[in-house]
Amino acid sequence: MPEPATAPVIEITDLHKSFGQLEVLKGVNITAHRGDVVSLIGSSGSGKSTLLRCCNLLEDSQQGDICFKGEPVRWRGAGHDRRPADPKQVLRIRTNLSMVFQQFNLWAHMTILQNVMEAPVTVLGRDRAEVEKAARHYLDKVGIGDKCDAYPAQLSGGQQQRAAIARGLCMEPEALLFDEPTSALDPELEQEVIKVIKDLAAEGRTMIIVTHDMKMAADISSHVVFLHQGLIEEEGPPDALFGAPKSERLRGFLSATQ
Ligand code: ADP
Ligand code: MG
Repeated sequence: MPEPATAPVIEITDLHKSFGQLEVLKGVNITAHRGDVVSLIGSSGSGKSTLLRCCNLLEDSQQGDICFKGEPVRWRGAGHDRRPADPKQVLRIRTNLSMVFQQFNLWAHMTILQNVMEAPVTVLGRDRAEVEKAARHYLDKVGIGDKCDAYPAQLSGGQQQRAAIARGLCMEPEALLFDEPTSALDPELEQEVIKVIKDLAAEGRTMIIVTHDMKMAADISSHVVFLHQGLIEEEGPPDALFGAPKSERLRGFLSATQ
């Protein structure tokens, strides 16, 4: 039986975003269906983080559509005055697209368990005992089940990032958004985080990953997007993008990141 057609988890169409006079995204399209792993690659300043932040409405945008599971974001105003119209919709989308940041962003004054439990309890109003069970499960899953009572400063960078991933998972989101999740880590700690991300990909999680790690992108992506100065210069399956890049700029970028 063919699967019923379902709307993409995220669909962004013709997105434009400026910071004042600086136009950072100049008409970008991104689609992630359920189970897709989309990697965003490109030089520093090309707009990767901005695009990811626009996906879950952490950044405003001036033009274009953002659709979450077939539900278009409703706006009021236009251009630089455009804002999401419905705070409940923003909350629903944001909590369904969990973001994992380069700098982990854990609360220093909370234990690891409290960090993971915080948003499901306070933002989603879920039952504390159930959230604790889930939090312990996800901390086990990322391999730091023994660190529940530790504080972030007592953990290595790799362990902190795995805690941040567990925190994202504990929201039971539709998709995970990663912004350079391994960039702040020493090479030996990078691998433990890459392994967790690979396991999530193998489980069929929907993910959009901004990464400088071409090997990981080649290994786990269903689709790779190369951003150049706010436009998609080339995109496609990883074999094509890494194996037979068409654009001169992409070829240059890949040879510089070898
Ligand atoms: P990338 O993640 O690909 O390195 P970014 O999306 O962070 O790129 O940034 C794209 C451009 O937008 C850069 O020129 C950057 O300086 C600019 N930019 C990013 N965030 C802001 C901001 N909050 N205010 C002004 N300019 C910004
Ligand atoms: Mg960035």
